[in-house]
Amino acid sequence: MKKIMVDMDEVLCTGGYLEIVNRFLNTHYTLEELPGYCAEDMIPKERLKEYYEYFKGQNVYEYSYEIKDAVEVLEKLSKKYEIYICTAYYADVYKMDYGRLLLDKYIWLQEHIPFISPYHYIFMNDKSLLECDIKIDDRLSNLNGYGEQKYLFSSYHNGNVTEDELKEVGATLVSGWKELERILLDVN
Ligand SMILES: [Mg+2]
Repeated sequence: MKKIMVDMDEVLCTGGYLEIVNRFLNTHYTLEELPGYCAEDMIPKERLKEYYEYFKGQNVYEYSYEIKDAVEVLEKLSKKYEIYICTAYYADVYKMDYGRLLLDKYIWLQEHIPFISPYHYIFMNDKSLLECDIKIDDRLSNLNGYGEQKYLFSSYHNGNVTEDELKEVGATLVSGWKELERILLDVN
């Protein structure tokens, strides 16, 4: 069986980080309004410290929702491939106990993707170390390294990726899970 590495944030679920920012600022920003990947880019610099404190008490995954078709297609793929959910959980910036975020991720995966065993969860930051046949991620940098098929999952923040950038990593841009289903299960 071929092994597939599937990213979690912005590939299986989304919206949690932005919802916390909106609650903090009392705003209604949408993902499409973000200037880049990070929702906290919407926070005025002078309030960032206060925001990081606020964030520590939040569960991102309480506000996250499933990406369209993700669960349905992943379940089909799991019958033909060995699926590994590979997700980063650490970033210096929040200066918090990241064990909490890891647990919140774990619980979300258990609740929403029950057909993938926790034996197949990989919590790591440098995904280039993973020797999987197929990789699916919304960040091009996470597709570096091993992999015979690499798919950049279309997201609000990666719309301006160029053909040259994709070529350099050996990746193909996919519009969503239905396209992945067609490619990986040959469903028309
Ligand atoms: Mg991601």
